Amino acid sequence: MLVGAGVGLPLNHLQASGAVSADAVSTVASIAKGAGDIFLRLLQMLVVPLIVSSLITGVAKMGNLRKLGRLGGRTFVFYMFTSALAIATGLLFVNLISPGSHAELSLLEAQASARELPSETAEPASLGTVLWNQLIGMIPKNPLKAAAEGDMLPIIFFSLLLGVFISLGEHGEETEEDERDAITTLRKLFEGLFAVMMRMTLAVIALAPIGVLGFMLHASASHGTEAFRALGLYALTVALGLFVHAAISLPLILKFVGGGSPSNHFRAMRPALLTAFSTASSNGTLPLTMRSVEESGVREEVSAFVLPLGATINMDGTALYEVVAVLFIAQVHAQTTGFDLTLSHQIVIALTALLASIGAAGIPHAGVVMMVVVLSAVGLPTSAVGLILAVDRVLDMARTTVNVWSDSIAASVVNELTRDEPAPVEVAG
Ligand code: ASP
Repeated sequence: MLVGAGVGLPLNHLQASGAVSADAVSTVASIAKGAGDIFLRLLQMLVVPLIVSSLITGVAKMGNLRKLGRLGGRTFVFYMFTSALAIATGLLFVNLISPGSHAELSLLEAQASARELPSETAEPASLGTVLWNQLIGMIPKNPLKAAAEGDMLPIIFFSLLLGVFISLGEHGEETEEDERDAITTLRKLFEGLFAVMMRMTLAVIALAPIGVLGFMLHASASHGTEAFRALGLYALTVALGLFVHAAISLPLILKFVGGGSPSNHFRAMRPALLTAFSTASSNGTLPLTMRSVEESGVREEVSAFVLPLGATINMDGTALYEVVAVLFIAQVHAQTTGFDLTLSHQIVIALTALLASIGAAGIPHAGVVMMVVVLSAVGLPTSAVGLILAVDRVLDMARTTVNVWSDSIAASVVNELTRDEPAPVEVAG
C-alpha cells in the first residue's frame, strides 16, 4: 500500500506541475489498475459459490431452527446497534466541526462543476419504495438468475432456505432411507464445494500485495491531494468519525461484549482490511473476510451466516459517511440559500442514512448512489451530490474498511454469544 501511494502521489504532483505528461501518468495508472482488477476479479469470482456453499453448509450443520433463529436475532441486533452508534458518532462530529459552514463556496462549486454525476443518481425514490423494494427483492423469482447477477440478498435468502430444508430432510422422522441418503449426498456436495472455495481463496490471497499496490498506485496517481483543498474539513470530519467508531467503539464492544482481544483480532483481519481499503468493495473482500475470521477462531457456521449478510446490510462506515455528507451539503446550502437545518431534519437524515447503508451494495461508490434517498428525504437537491464527489474515492476506501471491520467484529461477538448454547436436539435418533 505504501509503495503504491509512494509512487502514485509524486506522479500526480509531477503531472500537476507539468513535468510529466498527463498521458504518461494515465498509462502508468491504468497498468496499475489492471493489476488490481485481476486481483479483485479473482476474488469476485469466488463470492457467489462461496456464499452459497458456506451458508448451506453452515445452516445444515446447525441442524436446529431455534439455533438459527437465535443466531439471526443476535446478528440483527448487533448490526442495527453498531450502525446506529456509527450514525450517532457521525452526527456528533459533523455538528461539532460543522465543515459545511466553513467551506469555501467558490472552490467547492468550481470543483463540483468539473465532475459528472453518477447516472443512477438521477431519479430519487421515496423512502417507502426503497424499503418495500428491499424486502420484496429478497425473494428471488429465479435463484439461478440471482446467482448469475450476483444479487446478494436473494442468494442469501435462497441458500438459507435450502440449508434449512436439507437439515429438516436429513433429520426428519418421516424421511425415507433413500431420500435421506440423497439429501446427505447433496449436503456433502456443498461441504466439498465450500472446502475447495476456501482453498481457492487462500491461493488468491497470495496475490493481495500486487493487487493492493496496483489499486493504491492508481488511486493516488489519478486523484492526488488537490481535491482536499476545498473539501479537507469535510473529509477530516468523515475520517475522524470513522476512526472513533473503528478504533474505540467497536473494539470496546469486542472486548466487553465478545470477550475478545481487539489487537489479536486486528492482526488476524489485516489481509481483509487492506483489501477492503484498496478495493473499496466489501463484497469483493468477502472471501478474505471469511478466511481471516475463521482463522481467528470463529465457528464456520457463524461466519457463514454473519459475514455474507454483513457485507450486504451492515455498513457502519457507509451509514456514518451518509450522515456527515448530507449534513455537510445541508450546511453548505444554509450558507447560500438560507436552508434551515432543524433537529427534525437531523432525525430524518439519521433514519434514512440507516436505510441507505442497508440498501447500498458492497461495491465501490454505492454509498454515493444511495445518498439521493437521504437528500430527497429532507428536500435537498439531489444534484448536490456533485459537491462531494471529488474526494469520494478516498472516503469510500476508508468507509469500506470500517464496514468490513464491523462485520468481522460482529462475527467474533456473535460467535461468543452463541457459544454456550445446548447442543442441537436431534429430531431423529
Ligand atoms: N464501497 C462500500 C462498500 O463496499 C459501500 C459504499 O460505497 O459506501 O462497503
